[in-house]
Amino acid sequence: MSDTLRMFRSTVREFIQTEFAPHQARWRQQQCPDAEAWTKAGAIGILLSDVPEEYGGGGGTFAHVAVAVEELAHAGVHFASFIHNSVAHYILAYGSEEQRRNWLPRMARGELVGAIAMSEPAAGSDLTGSKTTARRDGDHYVINGSKTFITNGWHAGIICLAVKTDVRAAGPKGISLIIVEAKNLSGYRVGRPLEKVGMHAQDTCELFFDDVRVPASNLLGPVEGRGFSQMMEKMNYERLAIGVAAVTTAERAVAITSKYVKERMAFGKPLIDFQNTRFKLAECKTEARIARAFLDNCIERFIAGQLDDITTAMAKYWLTDCECRIVDECVQLHGGYGYMAEYPIARMWTDSRVHRIYAGTNEILKELIASSL
Ligand SMILES: Cc1cc2nc3c(=O)[nH]c(=O)nc-3n(C[C@H](O)[C@H](O)[C@H](O)COP(=O)(O)OP(=O)(O)OC[C@H]3O[C@@H](n4cnc5c(N)ncnc54)[C@H](O)[C@@H]3O)c2cc1C
Repeated sequence: MSDTLRMFRSTVREFIQTEFAPHQARWRQQQCPDAEAWTKAGAIGILLSDVPEEYGGGGGTFAHVAVAVEELAHAGVHFASFIHNSVAHYILAYGSEEQRRNWLPRMARGELVGAIAMSEPAAGSDLTGSKTTARRDGDHYVINGSKTFITNGWHAGIICLAVKTDVRAAGPKGISLIIVEAKNLSGYRVGRPLEKVGMHAQDTCELFFDDVRVPASNLLGPVEGRGFSQMMEKMNYERLAIGVAAVTTAERAVAITSKYVKERMAFGKPLIDFQNTRFKLAECKTEARIARAFLDNCIERFIAGQLDDITTAMAKYWLTDCECRIVDECVQLHGGYGYMAEYPIARMWTDSRVHRIYAGTNEILKELIASSL
């Protein structure tokens, strides 16, 4: 932390409290944030806070991103700015100067909402099973196929899309990333936001591509066939951001539950007077503290460019497992009220579950960690 980050945190916190938190019931009902939420977040500096100023970003580091993710998790608001930022980092890392100047400033202002589209009905953990193709036709690619479970899908204006550019190449070799500007694009269609068990305010959609033509210059990376390694490299950004949300949620669960058990009475005394309650919360608080120490260490190393894939996988797997254990214990300590949607702990229980599934399931991450043994 630094004074600049503390100031940024207080700006972000106030913004979320006034602009996002009051609208959560409506966002949940419409299954997505308001479109204007993106331009408002852009104006306050939440978007692309770790992208250089020359491209419209905030010129900060991942610490700024972590602050925003923490504040969103702290308020129980689902707004996938970290996915949006992640798209910007694909462009920053693999895009040409022209591509960066074309897309990044508009993303920073929230005029283009970013989505990453990798998963398909038959390609989740195994992305080499992708069936969406991009066929070269003169100065264009012609895209056919569909994607599923895409976060920010409903509002997406810019999609980092994984496609097969070489259908004959085996495994990861034929995969490339193409940037698709989605607004008013012929042949492109978004399905209604998918019904989920949690994260109801977050738009998660299917995307359909039917002979969609995009300029060949939208390819990311100088040549075709680099998509798989680009995804494996940049996925660390998302994984670490999910770790930040996981630890903040765990800490929040302990805080909420500690308060609850002091107020709720059973057998003539507050729940905290039962040794089981105290011991469970003591265990949760300890685990959350360990999680925080590991996370902070990972963030420092990430900012220094020294966080390796294996440690990032460890962080995402362990921190999200830890989050789910803690939140589940806290639901138990709430009794029946912990199962009622109007109680924040109930929502945290359904919302947090997906952290163990997306951006690489925790099983896939253990495979990755095991490869280093
Ligand atoms: C709310 C939500 C948002 C999402 N957002 C996005 C997004 O923005 N962009 C995007 O591209 N995708 C997104 N996803 C998709 C997500 O990344 C996939 O769901 C995830 O990668 C798992 O793929 P799958 O669902 O096909 O499960 P599968 O791959 O079918 O896996 C099923 C089970 O088998 C296990 N398994 C599979 N292979 C192995 C193996 N080799 N060893 C051991 N176990 C294995 C898995 O761990 C899992 O437990 C999102 C998903 C959800 C639910």
